Order: sequence, then C-alpha cells, then structure tokens
Amino acid sequence: MTLQQRVLALFLTLLLLVLAITMVTVSQATYSHTMDRAKEQMVYARRIFQDKLQTRQKALDESARTLASEEALRQAIFADAGDRESILVALNNHRHRTSADLSFLVDLDGTVIADTADAKRQGRPFPFPELLNEEPTPTEMHVLALDGRAYQMVAVPYYVPVSAPQPSFWLILGKALDDGTARDLRDLMGVEVSVLASSAAHPDAAVLASSLGPLERGALAHAARPRGDTVELVELVGGDYLAATAPLSPGPDGGFVAVLLRPTAAALLDFRKLSGRFLIIGLAAALLAIVSAVLFSRGVTRPIRGLEEAAQRIAAGDYAAELPLEAGGEVGRLAREFAAMQRAVREREEAIQHLAFHDDLTGLPNRIHFQRALARHIELAREQHGRLAVLVLDLDRFKDINDALGHHVGDRLLMEVAGRLCRAAGDGPVDVARLGGDEFAMLLPVRALGEAREAVDAVQSTVSGAVEIEDLRVDLQASVGVSLYPDHGADPATLLKQAEVAMYVAKGRRLGAVFYESSQDRHSIERLSLVGDLRRAVEDDTLSLRFQPQMELTTGRVDAVEVLLRWNHPRLGEVSPAEFIPIAEQTGLIRDLTAWVLRRAVEQVAAWHRQGLAVVVAVNLSALDLHDPDLPGRIRELLDRNCVAAESLVLEVTESGVMAEPETARRLLDELNAMGVAISIDDFGTGYSSLSQLKRLPVQELKVDKSFVLEMERSADVRQIVRSTIEMAHSLGLRVVAEGVESVEALESLRGMGCDIVQGYYLSEPIAVAEATSWLRAAADRREARTLDAT
Ligand code: C2E
Ligand code: CA
Ligand code: CA
Repeated sequence: MTLQQRVLALFLTLLLLVLAITMVTVSQATYSHTMDRAKEQMVYARRIFQDKLQTRQKALDESARTLASEEALRQAIFADAGDRESILVALNNHRHRTSADLSFLVDLDGTVIADTADAKRQGRPFPFPELLNEEPTPTEMHVLALDGRAYQMVAVPYYVPVSAPQPSFWLILGKALDDGTARDLRDLMGVEVSVLASSAAHPDAAVLASSLGPLERGALAHAARPRGDTVELVELVGGDYLAATAPLSPGPDGGFVAVLLRPTAAALLDFRKLSGRFLIIGLAAALLAIVSAVLFSRGVTRPIRGLEEAAQRIAAGDYAAELPLEAGGEVGRLAREFAAMQRAVREREEAIQHLAFHDDLTGLPNRIHFQRALARHIELAREQHGRLAVLVLDLDRFKDINDALGHHVGDRLLMEVAGRLCRAAGDGPVDVARLGGDEFAMLLPVRALGEAREAVDAVQSTVSGAVEIEDLRVDLQASVGVSLYPDHGADPATLLKQAEVAMYVAKGRRLGAVFYESSQDRHSIERLSLVGDLRRAVEDDTLSLRFQPQMELTTGRVDAVEVLLRWNHPRLGEVSPAEFIPIAEQTGLIRDLTAWVLRRAVEQVAAWHRQGLAVVVAVNLSALDLHDPDLPGRIRELLDRNCVAAESLVLEVTESGVMAEPETARRLLDELNAMGVAISIDDFGTGYSSLSQLKRLPVQELKVDKSFVLEMERSADVRQIVRSTIEMAHSLGLRVVAEGVESVEALESLRGMGCDIVQGYYLSEPIAVAEATSWLRAAADRREARTLDAT
C-alpha cells in the first residue's frame, strides 16, 4: 500500500465515519421529533373530535328543547286524544326538521308512546332508562347503541300543557354516529375515526361505526387499544397506526369509545422526505470528502514522489534531477538535504571519475583514459583517412634510480618527464598519458612514416637529457616503441600492445626508438608465457645450478665459486637469469627461487666437503630477499642441517638492492654477519652509492661490476676508476672481487692494482657440478703439488 493510498484510506474512513454518525444521530432525532409531533397531532385530533361530538350533542339538545316548546305535537296529543298515528306523524315532522335520526315520546313510567324508527317498540319500556333524568345537563354526552348502530341521544322533559307544573312525557332525539359521520370527521381531522362498544363479557369490541375499510375495521375489533390519554402504535392489517382513544360514554357493561387512527406512514411522510433529502446531502458530502481526500493525499505525497523519482534518476546517474525544493515543512527540508546530497554525490563522482581516469602523481590521463581517447582518434582518422602514431616510452634504469635515490626523487623525475612530454605534445592534453610505473604513452596524428620518424625523434630528444633534482644530476634516457594506425592495427588495445612490444625491443637492444614489426611479437609472447612456466619450474626441478670459479690472485688458489641459476626451458632451451629473475621478482616467486638455490648450494658445499674439497660458495640474493625477516633463521637451519659452517657461505647483494632501504637491509645483514656469513656487494659501480655509505654496512667484500672490467682495456678513465675503487675498498678493509675477467691482460692489470680475487670467462664460464668438481679437485691438486714443490 503506497503512502498516498494509506493517507487516502485514513482520510476517507474518518470522513465517512463522521458523516455516518451525523446521519444516524440526525435521523434518529428527526424521527423521534416527527413521532412526537405526530403524537401531539393525535392528541390535538382527539380534542377536535371531542369538541365536534360535544357540539353535536349541544345542537341535539337545543333541537330537543325547541321541539319541546312547540305546540304541534301537544295539539296532536290533545286534539286527537292521544291518537298514536297523529302523535307519530307530528313527532316525525319534528325529527325531520331537526334532522335527527331517532325520536321517541316516552311517558313518565318509561313506556314508549311513540317511536319514529320502529313501531314495534311502542308500548314497551324505553331501552335506555338511564337517559331519563330529572334535569339533564345539555353538554353531557350520551352515546348509545340501538340495533347495532351508535347514536348520540338526548332526552328533555315534555310539559302538557306547557304551563303544567310537572312534565308529562320525555321527548327523546337521537342522531346517528355512523360510517358517514366517521368519514366526515376523518375528512375534517385527517385521522381515521371509529366508534367501538366494548363489553365485559366479550373480549372483542364491536365496531359500530368507522371510516376504515372493512379489513382494518375487522382487525380493529380485536386489536389492543391504548388506555387513557396515551398515544400508541397499533398494528392493523394495512400497517402501523398511531392510535388514541376518546371515551364517549360508559355503557351498562363496558362502554363506548372512539378510536382515532393515523397511519404511521402518513405521519412519517415528512420524515421520509427529510431523510431522502438528508441522504442526498450525505452522499454529496461523501463525494466531496472523497475528492478532497484524493487531493489532500496527492498534495502530501506528490513532493515525496518527486523525491523518489529524483532518487531513482540520481541512482541512474542523472544528477540534473529536479527536486521539490519549494515544498514546505519536513518534505521541503528533506528535499533541500537531498539536493545537498545530490551535489556531494556528483562532486564525489566527478572526483572518482578523475581518479579513475587520471594518474595521481602527474595528473596525466591514465591507461583507460588513453585507450578511450585513442579509440576516438582512430574513429576520426578512419573518417579522414589519416594516420596515427602511438608511442610508448619507458625510462631506462628508472628502477635503479628509484631504488638508489629514493621514491621522492623518482616521483620528481616522473613529473619532469610528464612535463617534458606535455611540452612535446603541444596542446591536446589527452594525447599524453602515464600508463603506469615509468611508462608513458603519446598519440601523434601523422601523415607519412617519415613524418612519424621525425616526430618520434623530436619527442625522444625532448624527454632525454639531464635533470637536476636536489643537487643531483640524473641522466634521463627513454626507450620508445611506436605503432602506427592503420599500418599495424585498427583498435586501441592492439596498437598499444604493439607499441609496448616495440618498446621492449628498443630497451633490450638499447636502440632508443623502435617501430613495431610483426616479428617482434614472438619475443613478447614468450616473455609472457614465461611467468607460468617459471612457477612450474620451481616445482618440476627444471632449474639447475652452475658454478663459476673465483681465483685468489696472490696465491692462485681456487677455493670459491659463485652459484648461478639456470633454467632449462622445455621449449626455449636455457633461459638467462637476467631474463627470468626480474619476472620472479615481479610475481613474488623470488622467495621460492632463493630458497631453492640456497638449499641446493649448501647441499653441494656439504658434498664437496665430504669429498675433502674445502669450498666457499657465493649465492646471489635478490633485493626483495632483504625484506624477508625469516631469511637468516632459515639459512641458520639450513647450515646446521647440512653441518656446513657459516664461513663457507657468502651472500651477494646488489648495491641498489641494499640502498633502496638501507635500514631494513642493515638489520638483516647484521644478523647474517653475526652468524658468520660474509656479505658481498655485487655489481658495484652501477648504482649511485658512495663508498662512505657502504662503510656503515656490515660488508666484507666488494664486486666491481663487469661492465667496468670489460671497459678497462679500452678506457684509461675506467682503469682509473677501478684502481681507486680497489684502493678505497682496501682502505675500508674490504676484499675486492673483479668479475668479467675475459683476458689475461685484464687479469694482469687487476693484479697490478692489488685486486684480491678474479672471476670470469678467462678462468672459466659457469659450469655444471661434475665439471666444477673436477676443476676444484685439479686446483686443489695443483696447490698440493705446489706446496709439495715448495717443501
Ligand atoms: P651476476 O651476479 O653479476 O653474475 C655474473 C654474471 O656474469 C653471470 O651471468 C655470468 O655468467 C656472467 N659472466 C661471468 N664471467 C663473465 C665474463 O668474463 N664476461 C662476461 N661478459 N660475463 C661473465 P648469468 O649467470 O647469466 O647471471 C646473470 C645475473 O643473474 C647475475 O649477475 C645475477 O645477478 C643473477 N643471478 C644469477 N643466479 C642467481 C641466483 O641464484 N639468484 C639471484 N637472485 N640472482 C641470480
Ligand atoms: Ca653475482
Ligand atoms: Ca655482478
């Protein structure tokens, strides 16, 4: 049920209830009032009725007295000496004149002398002796029944002669109280009139006269009658009647009463009419109530519905939804709150949109945004038959710079690159994007391949060049991969991927910028599939170790080897660790790899020791291993398990690996040192650390990077660098290892510089266990022979 329906239902129920109560109350009041009025009318009618009968009685009395004073009847009595015929004629004449229905002459003994109605009664006793009083009052009512008919009667004394001291007869007149009279009275008063005679002997009364129809008249005979002055409801065949009785005169055994009846239907006619009108008013009011309830409930719920619709629109992402702000009261307040919320949501969504499509650091559009823009540009180029160049740039050695100089320097560098790229792009902010890390992308509309080359060169030279950050000069170099629409692809994802592949090629070959060629794909696909294969390699034991001998220059002793990992890929053959170690670092596999190498290396040392070969093994750690606090514990356990002394193990960590987070690294290296494990700084010279920084680390050995050793022969400068490095290392008490020794010249030159140990192809390439074992044994034998020689 909706709010509107509920409001409507409540409103309607209340209104209709009030209406119904009003209707019932008013109707009841009207009814009882009408009934009271009708009863009053009955009482009134009875009074009129009694008045009428009184008037008739009086008129009858007067007629009788007038008659009694006239001479005609007396003459008849005298003149005709009591001749009955003459008396009767005279009496009848009289009756006629007074329009009476009955007339009697009765002597003082009560014997009927003359009866105008029935001659048979003559000579007999008068049937109503109670009528013959000394002095009748003119108004006393006398209703009597004769031959089943009711009459009003009056008796006056008759004097013969007039002056006689005593009356000689009674003169009696009667006027019929019949149906005609009843009807006349009814027409006059508007109520049915009936005259009833009741007797103690009979339960039913006799209806002597009535204005009613025959059926009602019959019913009236045995209906209960109201007693006394009350007006009561009586049921007859035709329906309900209001009834009132008026006593006429007491009879010998019962008496005569008049019953006045009025059909209640007639009495309530006004009430009915009024009720009808009232019902119409009630219905009109109900209709009005319904209409106003609908309008009211709609008025209340419309703003709420407005809010609801607005909420739905906002949910659908339409923030322009109109709100019923002009509404008053709570709804208005709610709407205003709602509007504030709508604004906040919009702003937040815009912020999220920006976050979603922009890079936090540089504010440049991100990969998703770039792909969308690329799609739009492709569409445009398609219509205009144009060309697009998609550039992907990756900074060279950014990871090293970042690791060595800290993230804030790296961030500044990225921002600088972003700025330079934007400058190169000119206007059109979408055309430059940061894809992630140190990878950027750019979009250039070009006409021909030549133009593309020029543009790419221009971009590269803008980006490249030294950057000064916090008194540091960092040389920036970027590798650029380029793909072309429509030459290489027609959709954003493909073009981006191809540009990335080309960029990897450029990076791998140190070529600066490379345009995409389909043959480059193999390389990238292999690189990607390596990840999954490498995971399996750790489990399947397709990894193996190579060992590269290290020789002490002063003694010529070879009792140390560097352990180098090899991966025999089932399809690609031997994959260089330079290729898969970075992948292992990116995927977190490095932990397992390091553990595997360490275990196998220590086991091998134990085996050599058992064969009487005292060997020290140098194992490479990844920079990420320096964040593994469990590493020293695991190494301790490994050494103990194999009964290998900690002094037989050297751990090589790169300069940049240590410098990324020197404190963490220091804590870990301290722990290892305390155990007796020596630490060697690998690839020294490639990072940005200084020897003074190294001084603070628990380090025993330094490995001059092979790029220096290899360059040494051609460059006097490099030779000088190597020489001073060795000297300074020695001054810090560090042993120096030179790797990448490929020639005897290099070896001799290093010997001249005081280098302690050499390692390189000149001595041996990294070799398998069996070969390494015989190499070590031969070296040991040589040493033995020499010591023997010496003695
Ligand atoms: P690295 O530690 O500098 O190891 C020396 C690399 O130089 C080896 O390459 C070795 O074969 C090569 N090399 C030796 N003598 C010469 C020479 O006279 N001339 C030239 N040009 N090269 C020489 P490899 O075995 O391919 O290893 C490459 C890199 O992979 C290693 O550089 C090391 O950083 C990493 N690596 C190798 N094994 C492991 C390992 O077990 N764990 C970790 N974390 N990294 C490893
Ligand atoms: Ca190494
Ligand atoms: Ca090295």
